[in-house]
Amino acid sequence: MDSVPTNRIILRVKLSAAYYDVIQADRGGTALALLRKLSPDLVITAADLPDMTGLALCAEINKLPTSVRIPVVILHGADNPGERLASLAAGADDVLTRPVDDLVMLARLRSLLRARDAEAELQLRDDTQRALGLAEHGSAFVTPGLVRLVSPPNLPETKALSEGLAARIPDRIEVVDPEDALREHARAPDVVVVAEAPGSSGEALTLLPQLRASRHTRHSALIYIAQPNQQREAASALDMGANDLLSSGLDLDELAIRLKKQVERKRTNDRLRANMRDGLRAAVCDPLTGLYNRRYAVPHLSRLADRAAGQKRPYALLLADLDFFKQVNDSHGHGAGDAVLVTLAQRLKDNLRAADLISRWGGEEFLVAMPDTDRTAAKRTAERLCRIMSRHPVTLPDGKQLTVTLSIGVAVGRPGHDSSPLELIERADEALYAAKHKGRNTVVMADTVRALPTRGATPLAKPLSAKDDKEAEARRAGLT
Ligand code: GH3
Ligand code: MG
Ligand code: MG
Repeated sequence: MDSVPTNRIILRVKLSAAYYDVIQADRGGTALALLRKLSPDLVITAADLPDMTGLALCAEINKLPTSVRIPVVILHGADNPGERLASLAAGADDVLTRPVDDLVMLARLRSLLRARDAEAELQLRDDTQRALGLAEHGSAFVTPGLVRLVSPPNLPETKALSEGLAARIPDRIEVVDPEDALREHARAPDVVVVAEAPGSSGEALTLLPQLRASRHTRHSALIYIAQPNQQREAASALDMGANDLLSSGLDLDELAIRLKKQVERKRTNDRLRANMRDGLRAAVCDPLTGLYNRRYAVPHLSRLADRAAGQKRPYALLLADLDFFKQVNDSHGHGAGDAVLVTLAQRLKDNLRAADLISRWGGEEFLVAMPDTDRTAAKRTAERLCRIMSRHPVTLPDGKQLTVTLSIGVAVGRPGHDSSPLELIERADEALYAAKHKGRNTVVMADTVRALPTRGATPLAKPLSAKDDKEAEARRAGLT
């Protein structure tokens, strides 16, 4: 948006040459009407429009009900640091001063659009998780951010910079030598400020892609401070990984505002990322016991089987089911039943190796997958688990003690015998059934169970759907 036709024409030519689609307006009102209809990816406005200021337009744009905020860049006529700061502080995403350096402007636009896309993507996933009930809102409490200033510590400029910043922002500031910029410190910085030393020829620039790629600073916001004569470096910085930049030398107030924005953005992105991690965890974990669920266990079993085959080592599957568990619920209530499940899960965790995968396979049924385990070891482990349950009563929520026992079916995958993990689970399930039949609180090895009559065309596939579960139950019932 610009009221001066030549300005509009020049900008249109520059942007079109960079393959942007450009829509223009000569006043704020027209612009807003267009924005409501077209929702563009980014807005560039002059600081003064005939009917409003660029800042007022920016405020109106921020009120639009778009799912992702539209970034706004304000173009100022002459370099007036006070006005530029006011624009930045009032919510403009960036401020450029005429005459605009084309390279810097285009780099800024690319950077803003990249940031917007990344945030839109995170936001979309967050919305999905919220809809699934998996995401949490972050707490309102925020700790100060950590700002790492990369600049030779012995320079007077560095001292002035760090002291000037400390007076303006609440965040902790640490100064590190460029040589130390990539070293891992105790806490990853929220923002890394990389400043070119006076007289440098852009050495600091090469740090940006390294900081972006490093595991420690991958998610940190990066701000680059060019020396006033380094327009070329400034233009490259944003494409080399910087999130923001001071392109006409150091202005402490401007840096403080840009820093605050980057700290805030980093926090939002951290929260969105944490929600995503929690959401993924929720999708593969059982909320009651914290154990992996069947969705996680199945692909894990395939990997385990492949690795066992590759190493020519046996592996074992234990299918454990609580005895007469329905009675626990019926006599003591569902809460007591839940407490038993939680206790059993904890005992499994306490008594198995870290490499063993423990999963909640069904209601009161747990599957343990043990890599590198032969028949003897598997049998011994299963018997130990049975013993632990039968000898140690469970404390119910009302304080009562209740002894609940476990039946376990064990199947062993041996190298050279190419049963699939699902076939092995089927065998463990048959063994479990035999253990129940034998009187419960016992272990049965699958290779001691005579083959069961097969049913249907797919005798070996472990039923995974509820319907198939019912069929399996029916089959068991028929055999009693
Ligand atoms: P068996 O010895 O033959 O295994 O008998 P059972 O009573 O343990 O087996 P059954 O399959 O008849 O009953 C399982 C019960 O487990 C029924 C179901 O209500 C209960 N259950 C499943 N999931 C949960 C849960 O998350 N919490 C509670 N409290 N109970 C559950
Ligand atoms: Mg049971
Ligand atoms: Mg059961």
